[in-house]
Amino acid sequence: MHKKLLNEATFHLTIAAEGPLLVKLGTEGWDPTVPDMQFIRTRHARLGETIFIPGSSLKGTLRSYSEKIARTLDVYCCDPFHKTDSCSKSLEGLARESNATAIYDQSCVACKLYGSTNLAGRAAFADAYPTVDLKSHLTKRTAVAIDRVLGSVAVGPFDFEALTEGEFATTIRLRNFELWQLGLLGLAVRDLCLGRVRVGYGKSRGFGSVSARLDKLELRSIAAGGLALGDGELSVKGIGALLDDEERKSYGITSEAETKPVSVAANPEQSDEVLGSSVLFKRESNSADWFAPGVDALLGECVKTAWNSFIAEDKQRRAK
Ligand SMILES: [Zn+2]
Repeated sequence: MHKKLLNEATFHLTIAAEGPLLVKLGTEGWDPTVPDMQFIRTRHARLGETIFIPGSSLKGTLRSYSEKIARTLDVYCCDPFHKTDSCSKSLEGLARESNATAIYDQSCVACKLYGSTNLAGRAAFADAYPTVDLKSHLTKRTAVAIDRVLGSVAVGPFDFEALTEGEFATTIRLRNFELWQLGLLGLAVRDLCLGRVRVGYGKSRGFGSVSARLDKLELRSIAAGGLALGDGELSVKGIGALLDDEERKSYGITSEAETKPVSVAANPEQSDEVLGSSVLFKRESNSADWFAPGVDALLGECVKTAWNSFIAEDKQRRAK
C-alpha cells in the first residue's frame, strides 16, 4: 500500500490552553508513586523534564471529532473499540490474506484516514511540546466526586494538576493522501483552531478548552505534476490523480473526483525540491486569522468537491 511516497501535507500547529487543561497517562500503573491525576510528563532535549500532549492523544481526539462529522452526514464509521463490529475485527480475515487493497477499500472513513490494527493510517501525529517552560502555570486543585443520589462525597478529596495557560507546538503529517482526506482532516484542524474541539481530561467539567493556529501548511508532491502554481492559482492532485487506472484499482481508490486536481486562488511560497515540488503557506505571526491566506480556500475546495463526492459514493456502495 505505502510502497510509493507520492504526496504529503504537513500541518504545523500551535495549540493554546484556553482554560484548565489536563492530559494524563491513558494506562494506569506506570509509576505508583505519582498521583493518577498528574499531567503526563517526559524528558525533552531542550526543555528537560516537561509536560506534553502525546501525539496519540491528539490523534484520538481529532479522530473522534472526524467520526462525529461523518456520522452527522450519515456516513458510516465503525466503533474502533467494538469487540466485533470495528474494521480492526471485521477485516481480520483479509489481514490474514494480506489483502491490503480490499482492507483499504472496505475500511470505514475514519480507519482509511486514521488507521486500524489492519491498516496504517495516512495521518501521523507528533507529540506536542511546550513552546516555553510551563512549570509555573501548573496548578494543583482538589476535587471530590459527589454521589448523585445521596449528595454525599463518593470519592475523594483527590488532587489533580491543571495547566492554566501555555502553548504547545506540533505537526500532523498526511502522506499519500486522497483529496477527501485533506478535506476531512482540514475540517477537524479548522475546528480545533476555532476552539470547537476539547482536549484531554474532564471535557464535560469545563476542562480542555483549547484554540490553535496553523502556523504553516506545507504541501509536497514527490510525483511529477502533483502541484501546479501560476497566475495566483494553485492546483493540487491527490494520489488518485497521480496513479494510472491500474494502480488506482490496486490502491483501492474508487472515487471519480479523485482523478481530478482541485484548483484555488492562492499564492503560497514555492520551492523546487530535488524530487518533485513543494509549496508553503505561512501565517503572518500578527494575523488575526488561524490560517495563512489561501489555506481556507484550499481546504474548503477539498471538502466541497472531493469529500462530498466521496461520501455520496460511499453511501451508495454501502446501500448495495
Ligand atoms: Zn473503521
